[in-house]
Parts: sequence; structure tokens; C-alpha cells
Amino acid sequence: MKVLFCASEVFPFAKTGGLADVAGALPVALEKQGVEVRIVLPKYKTVTPQKSRVTGAKGDIEIVTIGKDIQVYLIKNDAYFNREGLYGNSHGDYPDNLERFSFYCRRALEVLKEVLWQPDIIHCHDWQAALVPLYLKYRYPTDTFYKNIKTLFTIHNLAYQGVFDKAEYKALGLRESLFSIEGLEFYQKINLLKGGLIFSDLLTTVSPSYAEEIQTKRHGCGLEGVLAKRKKELLGILNGLDYEYWNPKSDTFIYKHYSEETLEQKYDNKRLLQEECGLAVNGDIPLFGIVGRLAQQKGWDLLAQSLDSFIKHTHIQIVILGEGEHRYEKLLHDLARKYPHAVSVHTIFNEPLAHKIYAGSDMFLMPSHYEPCGLGQMIALRYGTVPIVFKTGGLADTVSEENGFVFEHATAKDFVETLKRSIAVYQDKKRWRALVKKAFTYNFSWDISAKKYIALYEALLSGR
Ligand code: ADP
Repeated sequence: MKVLFCASEVFPFAKTGGLADVAGALPVALEKQGVEVRIVLPKYKTVTPQKSRVTGAKGDIEIVTIGKDIQVYLIKNDAYFNREGLYGNSHGDYPDNLERFSFYCRRALEVLKEVLWQPDIIHCHDWQAALVPLYLKYRYPTDTFYKNIKTLFTIHNLAYQGVFDKAEYKALGLRESLFSIEGLEFYQKINLLKGGLIFSDLLTTVSPSYAEEIQTKRHGCGLEGVLAKRKKELLGILNGLDYEYWNPKSDTFIYKHYSEETLEQKYDNKRLLQEECGLAVNGDIPLFGIVGRLAQQKGWDLLAQSLDSFIKHTHIQIVILGEGEHRYEKLLHDLARKYPHAVSVHTIFNEPLAHKIYAGSDMFLMPSHYEPCGLGQMIALRYGTVPIVFKTGGLADTVSEENGFVFEHATAKDFVETLKRSIAVYQDKKRWRALVKKAFTYNFSWDISAKKYIALYEALLSGR
């Protein structure tokens, strides 16, 4: 079975969030189970030869390899992709994103013919790849090379839809009639994600709970009706983690390797993290960690509100790593200035520091208002760090009172009560150790989820 992945970020080439982790790890897991996978990705500035094995080039395409033999086609177009950010810069999203990503989707299909590789399925991810099913259907309706290719579309985050002014419609090169309620139109604008949801053969999202939630008004982001109509073709498959990359026994970024058998080394990581972050070096103070995009979704408002008085009255430390919206950067730096001995804030993207936080913290916070799957809580468990989460989406599917702490109302009061509960358990050394040991028993590796995708691919091909 041959599957092409179309995703706008793929680890280790380009990453702003969990999509990159998934699009980098799932192909490798599929390959291990016998699927022939290839990937198409824009050649951004961050994509450097050091990150991969370069195996060839063909016109504007550079070919590199990951896994055993997964070819990644990098589409070169310096005017579109040789920029600082993937989707925007400090002034906001790039104004030509519709042009950039519609070009990417068209080239993704053209490349297949140029390299003479005909996939059975194209697996598209998020709005940046959402035009692929439309181009497949409407640019090549009778072309035998493309005609039988099936499409699967995965929603990683419904809130990001690729919405553009209708004046840009011409640049898509699609027929006028597709700009309608049954097509790309969304309140008089172009909505690329909506196109992907309507024109793909099957839909998935990244956790069973989120698959249900997005059919409701509360989490449907205006597309709940479109999704409810496709209810039968929509499935939630929990993301996995790359258990080789995220592994405290071999992680090259952390201070000391450890496992559930050698927890003393985990606590060395804690002390060294405290030192690096300029916090008091003291193994007894509960250390909370957070790694996440600075976006409304992640609950930074709730966090800032709650932490201010909580830190004043409680002996804790917190290390925060996040990049994104300026208003949250300010909020967090204000907090760090107010409590320099308790709060350490880093508003950058820093892969090594992220690993050190997962390893060195006692608890990992994810008070997200919504979370399609969330990888942070799974990484935390892998590192024996206890997650504290809001009960939503993938967080609800992976964390319970068995392996962490869960709050059910997105209020400062509920959040703080949960923090207090976690500290009470932390202070009971025996109970805490048992909880940490329990964390290591969970397995969120890709093996199981990759099997589910393969079953879905098979169903798609056999027309079931
Ligand atoms: P999302 O996809 O919504 O961003 P996930 O929890 O699914 O959230 O995945 C986030 C991924 O991005 C994790 O691998 C996390 O460690 C990483 N990450 C987020 N922000 C940063 C940052 N500032 N520096 C390093 N890694 C980060």
C-alpha cells in the first residue's frame, strides 16, 4: 500500500507544534508495519541538509530520506518559503498564505507524475493541505494517473481554518461554482479547511473525544454542521508519540538519563533545571513545568490569573516555555518579574529546553480550553512527570485521576484547587513515588494508532 503525506510541517525539518511531531513520526511507524510512505513538504528556511540524508534532486524538488526509506519531497520556491517563519512573522500571518499553500497543494500533485510514483491514498493534514482533494477531483477528473487515488484528511486543530478574502479566489485556479455553501464559501469568505472536510473521502481527527466535541456548537468553530453531515466518515484516532525520540533513557538534550528504576537521576535533572533557570536549587519544592504555544487555546489567561495569588501563598516553582502571541509574553514576563525566585519564563522556541522541562519538572500543566489531542501530557508521562489537565479532548482521553490530576471547570478556582490537591499528594512521599512510577506504565507509542490508520486505509481502498 502506498500513501503520500501532505503536511505543512514535519519534524525534524520544520516545527511549530504537534502537527510536526505527528507528520514526522506516523510515517515511520507506518513504514515499520509495511506501508510505503512518502511525504511532500515546502522547503522552508529551517530545512537544512544537516537534518536529513539528501538523496537527490529534480528541478525544484529536493529529495531527502527519513526512517528506513521514506522519501521526503521538498518543494523549493524561495519567494514563498525562504522566510523566517512558516506561516507568519512578528507582524502576524503572511498576507500571501493562500497563494503559498495553494501552490504547495498543486505542486504536491504535479510532483507525483514527475517522479512517477502513484500513491493509493493521499493523507492530508490541516488547512494548508486541504486543497489537495479539490485539485485531485477538479484539475484531473479524467487523468488515469490520478483518478483512483483516495484521500484521507486529518484535522489536527479545527480552529485554524485558512480563511481568506473572496477577492483572492481567482488565485486558486478552481471553478467559480466551488465558491458556494456546498464548497469553499464560509460567510462570504474562502475557507480552505472546509474544502478539505467536504471533498476528502474520509476524515479523522486526533482523539476520540475531540471527534465528538467538534460536532457541537461549542467546539465546532462554525463547521459543526459540515462535520455532523459527515459523521459516518469521521473517526478519532489518538496520536502517538515517537518513543525512541522521547525517551529519558537516551534523550540527548536532558542533563542525565534515567528510567523508573533510577528516579534519583530524574531528581538530578530537577536540580540542574532549577540551576539553569536561576531558581533556588531545592529538591523539596514542587516544580511545575509548561511547554506550549502562546495561544488562547492553551489557557494562559487562566494560568496567569490563578498563579499570581497562588505563588504568593504557596512555596512552589514554575518553569514556562512558550512562543507566540505578544499579549501572553507580556503577561508571563510580568509574572516572572514579580516572582523572580519562583517563576522562570522563556518566550522562545527551544527544543532542548523543552526536553529538560519534561524531565526536570514534578508536574506538567496543561490547562488548555480545548485540546484536539495534546502531546505534552503524553511526553510528561513518558518522563515520569505528573500531568495536570483540563478535562477536554485528547487530555480527557489520556489523563485521569489514575495517572494525574484533572479539573472539570475552566475556572481559576477549580484550577487552583487541583494544584493544591497535587501538592498535597506531592508532600506524601510514598504516594507521590507511586504516582510517578505509575506514569511510566502508560504506553502512547505509535504502534497501536498506526495499526488503526492502516485499517482505515484498507477500508478506504476496499470501499467499505
Ligand atoms: P499543539 O500542536 O497545539 O501546539 P501539542 O501538545 O500537540 O500542541 O504539541 C506541542 C509540541 O510542540 C510538543 O512537542 C511541545 O514540546 C512542542 N513545543 C511547543 N512550544 C514549544 C517551544 N516554545 N519550544 C519547544 N517546543 C515547543
